[in-house]
Amino acid sequence: SKARIGVTGLAVMGRNLARNLARHGHPVAVHNRTEARTKALVTEFGDEGTFVPAETPEEFVASLERPRRLVIMVKAGAPTDAVIEEFAPLLEPGDMIVDGGNAHFADTRRREAALRERGLHFVGTGISGGEEGALHGPSIMPGGSAESYEALGPLLEDIAAKVDGTPCCVHVGPDGAGHFVKMVHNGIEYADMQLIAESYDLLRHAAGLSPAEIAEVFRTWNTGRLESYLIEITAEVLAHTDAATGRPFVDVVLDQAEQKGTGRWTVQTALDLGVPVSGIAEAVFARSVSGHADLRRAARGLPGPQNDVRYLSGFADDVEQALYASKVVAYAQGFHQIQAGSEEYGWNIDLGQMATIWRGGCIIRARFLDRIRAAYEADPRTPTLLTDDHFAEAVGAAQDAWRRVVTTAAQLGIPAPGFSSALAYYDSLRAERLPAALTQGQRDFFGAHTYRRVDREGSFHTLWGGDRSEVEA
Ligand code: NDP
Repeated sequence: SKARIGVTGLAVMGRNLARNLARHGHPVAVHNRTEARTKALVTEFGDEGTFVPAETPEEFVASLERPRRLVIMVKAGAPTDAVIEEFAPLLEPGDMIVDGGNAHFADTRRREAALRERGLHFVGTGISGGEEGALHGPSIMPGGSAESYEALGPLLEDIAAKVDGTPCCVHVGPDGAGHFVKMVHNGIEYADMQLIAESYDLLRHAAGLSPAEIAEVFRTWNTGRLESYLIEITAEVLAHTDAATGRPFVDVVLDQAEQKGTGRWTVQTALDLGVPVSGIAEAVFARSVSGHADLRRAARGLPGPQNDVRYLSGFADDVEQALYASKVVAYAQGFHQIQAGSEEYGWNIDLGQMATIWRGGCIIRARFLDRIRAAYEADPRTPTLLTDDHFAEAVGAAQDAWRRVVTTAAQLGIPAPGFSSALAYYDSLRAERLPAALTQGQRDFFGAHTYRRVDREGSFHTLWGGDRSEVEA
């Protein structure tokens, strides 16, 4: 009998995805470059469903029903190209190659175009939720043609996480749309994590709470509007004690954050699209700063403020409000980037649906996303989530506390780049006038770059080196 779908690349992600498919009753062909992994999968988990193990690519392809659905779960980058080149010649027109790895969307666009020429569907698919998600239900973001989604969608929706019965999987849009959205999802995750880290740091060093006490604060927050997977695991990590030393776990971990690159891609892409994702950028840079050990060692003696740590009554509540407001900004920026990417590449992405499929399975799953979905349902063309009625009111109500937190951080010398840049973004959007007018004047002065006027159409230049009269450019 033939397999309904096949997975090649059986490291943690591929193995768990294959098991998830098998557990849902889909016969799944399995293949891996190093055969030992294929054998181990069938030996250990063979009783979970129908696995059709294949030793060679030829055998693998032959075991798939047509049109073939072939999922690649290998290391992103050159290995993905190598595997595509290995399998594509064995496929026939109408067959589908799904890349579930963390590919850059530009690579996905390139691969999709090349395979389309050969009559094959290439479906770049963002899969979020790590190995647990892959096994128990990830959030799935497939790109590629609408036609390929007809054949793949039901299978993917079947194995995706479900929230209120709705699968966390939807056709995002053509070619690289799925990987683009997955990339921005990861960028938002960076921002969310940075804001939580700053909240912890402030509660610790401004309010003087212990990690165990802060864990309790996060547990309380997790019963309210901040309820989310990240807040939940933050409490777990903070409550954990290091067995070897008896100290709080968070105190024995080296404070240098690492990154795999999707946050950086998000910011690089945002710069190209001209979208201000300052919250995501600050998060990427904060990890970068933390890793510069030499720089930090050299600067450690620089003077800071002479304030003592002291308990500020109501401070934890202020931090909750700052976190909430900053989080709204981070998501507003991320959704702006998706909107800009969608326009640039003609993807026609439904923003509300992106919030819907992130409610389960993925790292940023949260109650909050229901609100974002509602905002886009109320107005699919809303220019920013910040002006949605619900968010405008909530952030407006939080802003005094948010400002106190940023002020406190600055006064005590506690870095809070996420909170303060989010506030600056909020105030920039709100401002009647921005000093960009002065910037334009400077640019015109030194480079004759011209400027536009508030009262007349056209471009103008002032003769700065002459009589300072104005000419139309
Ligand atoms: P890895 O990224 O560690 O990749 C290992 C797999 O790739 C193995 O099956 C390996 O085969 C195969 N491989 C590597 N090079 C080649 C090659 N040249 N030809 C054929 N096969 C090759 O595995 P993961 O399971 O961690 O991740 C798979 C993909 O999913 C990656 O793109 C990753 O970015 C993405 N992803 C991972 C998440 C995670 O939490 N780990 C979350 C979401 C996405 P062999 O056994 O023969 O070495």
